[in-house]
Amino acid sequence: MPIVTLDLLAQYRSLADEINTAVLGVLSSGKYIMGDKVSGLEKEIAEYIGASRAVGCASGTDALLLSLMAAGVGPGDEVITTTYTFFATAGVISRLGATPVFVDIRPLTYNIDPALMEERITGKTKAIIPVHLYGQVADMDPIMESASKHGIAVIEDACQSIGAKYKGRNACTIGHMGCLSFFPSKNLGCAGDGGMITTDDGSLADKLAILRVHGSKPKYFHKVVGINSRLDALQAAILSVKLKHLDRWIGMRRENAARYKELLAGTPVVLPHEREDCKHVFNQFVIKVDKRDELKEHLTGKGIGTALYYPLPLHLQECYAYLGYKEGDLPNSEEAAGYTLALPMYPELPEKDIVEVTDAIKDFFQGK
Ligand SMILES: *Cc1c(COP(=O)(O)O)cnc(C)c1O
Repeated sequence: MPIVTLDLLAQYRSLADEINTAVLGVLSSGKYIMGDKVSGLEKEIAEYIGASRAVGCASGTDALLLSLMAAGVGPGDEVITTTYTFFATAGVISRLGATPVFVDIRPLTYNIDPALMEERITGKTKAIIPVHLYGQVADMDPIMESASKHGIAVIEDACQSIGAKYKGRNACTIGHMGCLSFFPSKNLGCAGDGGMITTDDGSLADKLAILRVHGSKPKYFHKVVGINSRLDALQAAILSVKLKHLDRWIGMRRENAARYKELLAGTPVVLPHEREDCKHVFNQFVIKVDKRDELKEHLTGKGIGTALYYPLPLHLQECYAYLGYKEGDLPNSEEAAGYTLALPMYPELPEKDIVEVTDAIKDFFQGK
């Protein structure tokens, strides 16, 4: 039996009756846009995160875009972020006519290096987007310190890290706004696209709620130009069912990660590093190895799926050639892009699969 990186059906099957009932309930209600299901989920997520407000939107990408809009980012502004992330983090900066400023990562955690970030702050810096990559929160204390010194907005990209903790605080509660994605492969995933922004700032939340409906309040009266980015009632209904199980699923991911670490100890594999003051939620389980491409091929040959997050850092992407970065500028990210590999990881991943994957990795190192 092939081993996949992610089995979404395993989760659906475990809750099929409840999810089907929720979906049919929305279909037969005739209320498909916003409404009770969306406002109910916003309250539940705000409570789960420990933020005072949450605003649903159409995707994690839109959560980031709306946050930048609420922070007033536009042409001429600079926004600092990590070069080692999913494209959306930077794409939204460009879409607003602002310039992404790319910063390198720390090699152990793959998260943005706060000291390098501070060096890139200029009079044009309007916002900073730290990304909590793979399920671990970036080093937020120094980031918040630099940002507040310079009066810069901090938008947490927690799309991979709902439920993660940093020094006892939840992801999304440390910056001015926190962005979540409910894309199916995230730790809390819906059956399509969905996203949410959380904040403790009531006036920002009001702004976000207006921006997601074309900037209108009341309807048909526009003080600002917004976008159309709503969370579907259908997705909200599914997410309300799933949210109740999120902590259990995070526990299962952490157990799988612990088992991987146990079985790979003593091999040449560089294992994911969990900071002592952080709770990692393992959206991905990413290892680092010298012969990454050969190992990937070896595992593929044995029917074991793996993935590359991400093969090319953003500062070297063709669309950002105009920014003038060159190879070697952000070396830790370039190294991570060349040598990391994501192994199968999802809550229901069978223990025997973890054993099979790690046995195959050990065989690789023994030349078998
Ligand atoms: C998934 C993801 C996004 C975008 O979320 P979508 O819901 O797919 O638009 C943004 N940033 C990071 C780090 C992500 O992993």
